[in-house]
Amino acid sequence: MNALAAQRPLAGGFSRRGACPALSAPMKTGDGLLVRLNPVVAGLPAKALIGLCKAAQTHGNGIVEVTARGSIQIRGLTESSALELAGCVNELGIAVRTGVPVQTSVLAGLDPQEIANPGALCDMIRAGIAEAGLEGSLGPKVSVVVVGGGRSALGDVAADVRLTAEGAGVWRVAVAGNALTARPLGQAADDTAACAATLVLLSEIAARGRETRARDLEDNQLHGVFSALHPVRPEGRANGRDLAGWLVGIVDLRNGNIALGVALPFGHTTAKLLKTFAKAAMDLGIDDVRPAPGRALVAICGTRDGAEKLHEVAQALGFVTSQDDPRLSVSACPGAPDCASGHLPARQMAAEMANDYRSLLDGSAHLHVSGCAKGCAHPGEATLALVGSEAGTGLVVAGTARDQPIAYANSGGAGRAFATVAKHVAAHRRDDETTAQAIQRIGVSVLAEAFGQGGR
Ligand code: SF4
Repeated sequence: MNALAAQRPLAGGFSRRGACPALSAPMKTGDGLLVRLNPVVAGLPAKALIGLCKAAQTHGNGIVEVTARGSIQIRGLTESSALELAGCVNELGIAVRTGVPVQTSVLAGLDPQEIANPGALCDMIRAGIAEAGLEGSLGPKVSVVVVGGGRSALGDVAADVRLTAEGAGVWRVAVAGNALTARPLGQAADDTAACAATLVLLSEIAARGRETRARDLEDNQLHGVFSALHPVRPEGRANGRDLAGWLVGIVDLRNGNIALGVALPFGHTTAKLLKTFAKAAMDLGIDDVRPAPGRALVAICGTRDGAEKLHEVAQALGFVTSQDDPRLSVSACPGAPDCASGHLPARQMAAEMANDYRSLLDGSAHLHVSGCAKGCAHPGEATLALVGSEAGTGLVVAGTARDQPIAYANSGGAGRAFATVAKHVAAHRRDDETTAQAIQRIGVSVLAEAFGQGGR
């Protein structure tokens, strides 16, 4: 935990979200039911994506999202329209992954920067989970992430078990966190050892009930795993390869194809715009579009010319097409009025802030604008979070939307209050500092005062 996080108190009482809203179990949200799809085969044919967009328009409210974990979300459904949507998904031939998520890069086996292909290990783990009958004993949020290096964009994705390639077939085994926060347990010498360690960990979690997560395991319960692994230096938590965050831009792949990555602004677009993108892909002969971590879509293109043309289409549609787009540093949920729980128009504010505070959003800091304390768009910590509530808009520093704000502005004054904070940080940032470093040095009390003053 960094210094700022240590300074802020925790707000009590906000419950965690429940089960993942898969097709068979839609989740209730402020704008109706929501379903989340994680296609079994990474890539959707353009025709299937067009069909999915039509189904989102017909059965939902026409909003389509790609989540930070790379799942597609369709919103605004009713109980009966969710069933109809499930029928459409079946008719389109989109097989949806169920069970314990074992997630890896959408470019597994294709990325020239990868140092180990995680595909076989993922299959081994999935088969092991099925064989051991662990599925029913694990809670709905238990997950495994396998990173083979390269541009996985999985650095921010937290998992109960995290395997990261440290050499060809050599895996670091860590638990309970993302690339920065997961606790390393040791190194597995090959795929078989990495799979075995994962299954032992999942079995230990399962044995303690469906509410248990890897973070709840005590050292003595990890003994079976420690003894099968080579030790790693505990201070070496972050593995640089695990942190690589590409999925926006054009890159050459191992098999001669070209990948074009674009992100949806704040993970969201309309079915109409996405359909235009998918139709353009189809016209260009591109037939493999992969929803990817980082709220991205990765199109596998046969030629660079095709990738560049689709890139132009994405740009014209307002998608995020460049690594330095400040929207990549901002998360926002729908907020008001789309979500009934929203106390502020989160996405609209986020779009304005990304535009107005480009120099503040230098890639070192993450801004989260959340309609309420549920924090749907970014469950993890953000450098700064603006959170709507009945008491007004709260500012959280180095925390999550659930944490206690350090100061409040009345709803109408939130923009002004944030502008005061941004101005203060810009004025006091040293030449050799990033925004995140400046915010940490300036400290909570000064930022609280600036926010409070601006919001009055
Ligand atoms: S965080 Fe946003 S989307 Fe989630 S419930 Fe609150 S207002 Fe709605």
